[in-house]
Amino acid sequence: MPSLQTHHSFHLPARCQGIHHFSSSDRFLDLWHSSATNYLLGGGSNTLFLQDFDGQVFINTLKGVSYRETKNSHIVTVASGENWHELVTRCLAQGWYGLENLALIPGSVGASPIQNIGAYGVEVENVIAAVEYRDIETGETSERLGSECEFGYRDSVFKGKLAGKTLITHVTFELPKRYQPVVTYGDLAKLDNPTASEIYDTVIAIRQSKLPDPDVLGNAGSFFKNPVIPQTQYNELVSRHGQVPGFDTEAGVKVPAAWFIDRSGFKGKTVGGVRCHPDQPLVLTNANDASGDDVITMAKLIMQTVYEKYAVSLEPEVRLVGSAGAITL
Ligand SMILES: Cc1cc2nc3c(=O)[nH]c(=O)nc-3n(C[C@H](O)[C@H](O)[C@H](O)COP(=O)(O)OP(=O)(O)OC[C@H]3O[C@@H](n4cnc5c(N)ncnc54)[C@H](O)[C@@H]3O)c2cc1C
Repeated sequence: MPSLQTHHSFHLPARCQGIHHFSSSDRFLDLWHSSATNYLLGGGSNTLFLQDFDGQVFINTLKGVSYRETKNSHIVTVASGENWHELVTRCLAQGWYGLENLALIPGSVGASPIQNIGAYGVEVENVIAAVEYRDIETGETSERLGSECEFGYRDSVFKGKLAGKTLITHVTFELPKRYQPVVTYGDLAKLDNPTASEIYDTVIAIRQSKLPDPDVLGNAGSFFKNPVIPQTQYNELVSRHGQVPGFDTEAGVKVPAAWFIDRSGFKGKTVGGVRCHPDQPLVLTNANDASGDDVITMAKLIMQTVYEKYAVSLEPEVRLVGSAGAITL
């Protein structure tokens, strides 16, 4: 049974029945239908194989970038197996700006719309013009405009009613020719009228100083989503605990999950081989040959403790995969 250890960023030593790299969507569909239990993988940076997976794993290597321009925009269509950070770097070098705040996010271009990746004041929905995909069951090719993708915070139609039903083949980005730097996020706000390259360099520097490199210390980035709670509940939290960081959204107040995890005493705490990062409590790390059970125990302990203390439910952002497929905690 081949090992998945290098194919997911938490690097647990899970195995599977077979690994297939595909560079054509027809080939992917043929192979997929010849097996009953399957998992589709891009870069494995939002997927955590908790134990041996009793099925076939398909790794996307669809490649290619095409370009056209309109009067006001650069239109870049990218095959889903391209690496996200390489795309950001390539666009910057061409003078096509708008992705620089999202530098160094691991993973594939195809996964970027699925959870509407975001960082440093930008979400990818801001620049997605369209997503092309194939229905895995029928093989039919469809396209949704960005406005039809039901994007939300770490959410989209591809995590909702189309979850597990499609192979995203291409993503088209529309990058305005008129450069508009986004410097709303803390450290970026210190930059004075920065160029896109300065934003790119600063984002990389911040990320490298704050986040553990998964190739050195296995992790899956933010383990939990930031909870969005009703305004009344937020007000109660403030009256009981003093200052609570919060950001208004249409759905309620988004509170950093790290705040709850930190205040619940998990910073630096270890369960088996899993460690809650001492500086970034939202990141669980594979500190010492962790097992899938260690991950589940730690995640459940955090969720239970935060709920008991604050009546707030944390939801994993990372996809957890057991022997038969995705599981929920
Ligand atoms: C260190 C680190 C930092 C991170 N920082 C951020 C951050 O700042 N912001 C952020 O939003 N995320 C962040 N992430 C999460 C992760 O990088 C993103 O979610 C990324 O988009 C995942 O891409 P992937 O190709 O690795 O996805 P995978 O883990 O391979 O797949 C994720 C899910 O998408 C599905 N999928 C993948 N490709 C396709 C496709 N072509 N068609 C249909 N379904 C598909 C898979 O089946 C799976 O369910 C971080 C992760 C790490 C490890």
